[in-house]
Amino acid sequence: MPDLIHNLEAVQQRIATAAHVAGRDARSIELLAVSKTFPAEDVRAAYLAGQRAFGENYVQEALTKIDTLADLRASIQWHFIGPLQSNKTRPVAEQFDWVHSVDRLKIAQRLAEQRPAHLPPLNVCLQVNISGEASKSGVSAAEAPEVARQIAALPNLRLRGLMAIPEPAGGIDEQRVPHRHLRELFEQLRNDGLELDTLSMGMSSDLEAAVLEGATIVRVGTAIFGARDYSN
Ligand SMILES: *Cc1c(COP(=O)(O)O)cnc(C)c1O
Repeated sequence: MPDLIHNLEAVQQRIATAAHVAGRDARSIELLAVSKTFPAEDVRAAYLAGQRAFGENYVQEALTKIDTLADLRASIQWHFIGPLQSNKTRPVAEQFDWVHSVDRLKIAQRLAEQRPAHLPPLNVCLQVNISGEASKSGVSAAEAPEVARQIAALPNLRLRGLMAIPEPAGGIDEQRVPHRHLRELFEQLRNDGLELDTLSMGMSSDLEAAVLEGATIVRVGTAIFGARDYSN
């Protein structure tokens, strides 16, 4: 899979360049490789090239992949980033290291109850509907402070920060606006006393804008693995 290795390097270079422009240390930005719809062999190839954190959106698909790659489990991090229904939380609480897509208190409560005691706390981000799109999941920016406080108080979870999927925008200046809003909300919550360290924002088409606005995790699929085929 030479393309994959080349793509991974190119994405790392994009992050490094954007970090340089932003005056940030590139090591303060983690690349999450979004492997949804791609086979376990592609994840293994990326792993062998040094990639350690992988993002998945669909519970059943992810569980199969995690099982196939069980030999890597101790040194790989699995991040759940897709919409999560409350009846599907248990395997996510049991198998993942992170959940970025906590979009209501009930989901966080279930994950807290279902996180096995022998595992470290589950890292979670609160998803914010930062562009205010009617169709998108996430709490509103106005609701975020109260929901974040409630999640931070739950056992077996560690609230790490905020996640958003902004509405697609053309130019980098337009792309920066929602990312800036998420960062401002993040700073507000930190000023209110929450110990947050993670801003999960930026994807294949807008990662530079996200890095310029302070992203600490960028979630990149297409630019690493190629275009997704949902037909099967
Ligand atoms: C699929 C997905 C990504 C990756 O998107 P690309 O445009 O392929 O980089 C990132 N975040 C979330 C939440 C996703 O569902």
